[in-house]
Amino acid sequence: MRWTLPPDRLPDAWFNVLPHLPAPLDPPLHPATRQPVGPDDLAPLFPMALIAQEVAAEPWVDIPGPVADVLRLWRPTPLVRARRLEEVLGTPARIYYKDESVSPPGSHKPNTAVAQAFYNKEEGIARLSTETGAGQWGSALSFACQLFGLECHVYMVRASFEQKPYRRVMIETWGGDVVPSPVDDPDHPGSLGTAISDAVRDAATRDDTHYSLGSVLNHVLLHQTVIGLEAKEQLMLAGEERPDVVIGSCGGGSNLAGISLPFVPDAGVRLVAVEPSSCPTLTGGRFDYDFGDTAGMTPLLSMYTLGHDFVPPPIHAGGLRYHGDAPIISNLVNNGRMEAMAYPQGKVFEAAVQWARTQGTIPAPETSHAVRAVVDEALAAKEEGADRVILFNYSGHGLLDLQAYDDYLHDRLDG
Ligand SMILES: *Cc1c(COP(=O)(O)O)cnc(C)c1O
Repeated sequence: MRWTLPPDRLPDAWFNVLPHLPAPLDPPLHPATRQPVGPDDLAPLFPMALIAQEVAAEPWVDIPGPVADVLRLWRPTPLVRARRLEEVLGTPARIYYKDESVSPPGSHKPNTAVAQAFYNKEEGIARLSTETGAGQWGSALSFACQLFGLECHVYMVRASFEQKPYRRVMIETWGGDVVPSPVDDPDHPGSLGTAISDAVRDAATRDDTHYSLGSVLNHVLLHQTVIGLEAKEQLMLAGEERPDVVIGSCGGGSNLAGISLPFVPDAGVRLVAVEPSSCPTLTGGRFDYDFGDTAGMTPLLSMYTLGHDFVPPPIHAGGLRYHGDAPIISNLVNNGRMEAMAYPQGKVFEAAVQWARTQGTIPAPETSHAVRAVVDEALAAKEEGADRVILFNYSGHGLLDLQAYDDYLHDRLDG
């Protein structure tokens, strides 16, 4: 029921989806001139190696040895069949999940944090600034910076900083420092958009500092493809030729990309994004150029967006509260290669609790969106009497999100 690979079977290259997209990506535009941004525009924020990866044309990008050495602390991650859930649902579908919750910070996010810390260190940068919502990304980057000897400065959405202390403590335990955002307005609850503005401003005004983003950008999605590459090999070991459907939750799109992008060339494989109905970027947003942050400091990206000033309601899946989506994911949805669906959080927690009571583990609220879609996909297969292989990304555990479960179990959850 569980397929593991030895450490030396970590993929040696990332999968670059850019040559496989149904249509070319629209270039990011400079916020002031609205002309395509060049490498020099991005150099104050990112190392050249990552800027190059944004537009890489080669189908594979080698994983540097020092990055692989760190990833092997927990990778390859297990592929597990959710047999007990299948039985309870009475479905003929076979459900497999990639367990990204086994990383030290407890999610898929260190897959890119480690690579980003490495390339910045290589370029002589001493310090990284970043934003974090509930703290998953901040803790992953703090972990990665510690391993490569970089300082890490995290702007945390103020509401989370005040209400969710444990990931803040993780950031500090790994040596990073963390301040509430927005820095200039102590009465503002903050949002990912304001925290990105603070972090970009920090990096743009200091020579020793670069900026780091945990999702959305092409290089971030590239680094996450180890998930899908490993899963392909493990499905083969499990005796499956290929999945019929691949499912992931979608905030900025990185864990979904990680599991699904290696399957883009496989025409028969359905790809499904799952988002909250209260922040319905792919299912309710418009496809347009928009800023990545609230203040309008970042380049304009071609993506599905709810508008950069959209403030999502405070649902528990903090990692899915973003007004935009990765240009690569947006491109796949806009061209019909990927489907998108949305669920209210009550339905999401219902599935999360069913998962915990069958499979045993407690999923992150973000991950639980994928679990909801998996349950419905398995029930649809039962209805149709169809054999079906479902693969999904178990992007993180929910052991620091128990307030959300408490609210659900005691009828205090909105929606
Ligand atoms: C951050 C996060 C997400 C959402 O971010 P993506 O970039 O869309 O993957 C999903 N699951 C977990 C566990 C997260 O920490």
